[in-house]
Amino acid sequence: MKRILAPLLFLTGFVVSAQVANVPTNYFDDPLQVPLALAGTFGELRSNHFHSGLDIKTQQREGLPVYSSAEGYVSRINVSHYGYGKALYIQHPNGYTTVYGHLKNFSPEIEAYIKKLQYQNESYEVEVYPTASEIPVERGELVASSGNTGGSGGPHLHFEIRDGEQRPMNPLMFGIELEDTRAPIVSALFVYPAGEEAHVNGSASRQKLRLIPQQDGSFRAEKIDACGEIGFGITAVDQLNAAPNQNGVYKIESSANGEKLLQVNFEKFSFAETRHLNQLIDYGYYTQNNSRIQKLFVEPSNPLSIYSDMKNEGYLNVQDSLSYNYTIKISDFAGNERIVHVPIEGKHRNDIKEDPSKITDFFVPASTGAQFESNGIDVYIPENSLYQDAYLDVSFEGEKVSLHEDVIPIHSNITIGFDVSKYTPEDREQMFIARLNKWGNPQYSGTTKDGERFTTKTRTFGNYTLGRDVKAPTVTPVNFRDGQWISGNKDLKIKISDDLSGINSYKATVNGKFILMEYEYKKNLLTHDFADGVVTDTENHLKLEVIDNVGNTTIFESTFFRK
Ligand SMILES: [Zn+2]
Repeated sequence: MKRILAPLLFLTGFVVSAQVANVPTNYFDDPLQVPLALAGTFGELRSNHFHSGLDIKTQQREGLPVYSSAEGYVSRINVSHYGYGKALYIQHPNGYTTVYGHLKNFSPEIEAYIKKLQYQNESYEVEVYPTASEIPVERGELVASSGNTGGSGGPHLHFEIRDGEQRPMNPLMFGIELEDTRAPIVSALFVYPAGEEAHVNGSASRQKLRLIPQQDGSFRAEKIDACGEIGFGITAVDQLNAAPNQNGVYKIESSANGEKLLQVNFEKFSFAETRHLNQLIDYGYYTQNNSRIQKLFVEPSNPLSIYSDMKNEGYLNVQDSLSYNYTIKISDFAGNERIVHVPIEGKHRNDIKEDPSKITDFFVPASTGAQFESNGIDVYIPENSLYQDAYLDVSFEGEKVSLHEDVIPIHSNITIGFDVSKYTPEDREQMFIARLNKWGNPQYSGTTKDGERFTTKTRTFGNYTLGRDVKAPTVTPVNFRDGQWISGNKDLKIKISDDLSGINSYKATVNGKFILMEYEYKKNLLTHDFADGVVTDTENHLKLEVIDNVGNTTIFESTFFRK
């Protein structure tokens, strides 16, 4: 199926930023045929990563036709319970790849291709890289329908454009236009005394500054007095005209007395660097306040490629008795700007309130890491797991380790080990390592069992202990009962859930033959589509095996009839 190839809407009031060099601006089309509205922009700050594409709204529903953004061939299909869910990758002759995620279905041709593989592998989750000649697509060809599969909080299409090195790029740079006449919104401004002896308003700690709205739409911060090296951070979002969603901004520039200090651009990044988002934001502030401050200074361990025009790592060196006008300019892709002025008076003070950061017995030099052990529990923090040297708050109490708080970002896994020799092998089978959530409830943490020792790898500080899951998963048929005729059903729906350690795997057969079941974890739902054509008998014996993360198994059996 082809759609009419009309250029995207171009109305007065549309602004296109033009300063982006060397990308084709007339090559990729909007992959949907509804008025373009975004639930997420490129580079938007997400949990442990930058958003790598556009989240295109699909009118709060699933099933909108998704079209190939340009000609090419399907180079990768990935079906996963989590992440992008059902995702399609199209390789284009100009070297770029487009990605379409959280799909409900693929086009009939691609659906047949992937179903065959799923039945071959007897697995819903599959990943395949077709060759160039297998599934060629034309520009505007129907390739999928939009959905909500994987780690998606509502129906939408996740759309990416990647360069030849699989680095995601801002799709708006490619001429995909949308109306945006609203300037970014700034909700808070913070100042960080950074250098030794640096202080702001007599304190060496982070401070929130009051923002005073000006008639022209800009903000002036309350005047501060400061001395030494200081940095700033802001919380800012952008809104587009078509939807009220709070999206990410495109560009942030800072300067002092007219001299540029730093520029942050969300145009391109690599997946290898995306977790360093936790160095752009004030991580501790985020986990405690659920709001992301973007720091406008760059610490030594921060390798992000989104910075340019950097002077003194973005810090301002404030001298006694000089005055400064520090300015932050936040822009969206359409070029709308919001400006914040911060008047600063250089003033050295002697009575400085020190930062109350605590010295503890558990010092971790970032470059070497550290190891702690007590009560049969050991903690191993490898080198460069942390971005900065840190004093951790650690305490061991019975079978629990309180391993700081989730206020320091961890870049690569740390390992926590538990000696479980005092438990019988039977007990150990149902046990696992749990992280206690903020309400003190145990959450399964991926546990490796090696005889008398359990280990878990984690990137979150917090409280860890041993948990026990004695209950097998529950299985509840949704649209049929045992012994029933269900000739009219187009599918078989079954709810599965597990109270503690969580679902690890499932497998269903009918009359001994594998049947494909799609697992939607957000709804605890398994679905088999009779259109697969594998349930062909009149009398059908269904056997469903569901296993949780410690191995408790439920086998559900039922008979249904169809003709
Ligand atoms: Zn997305």
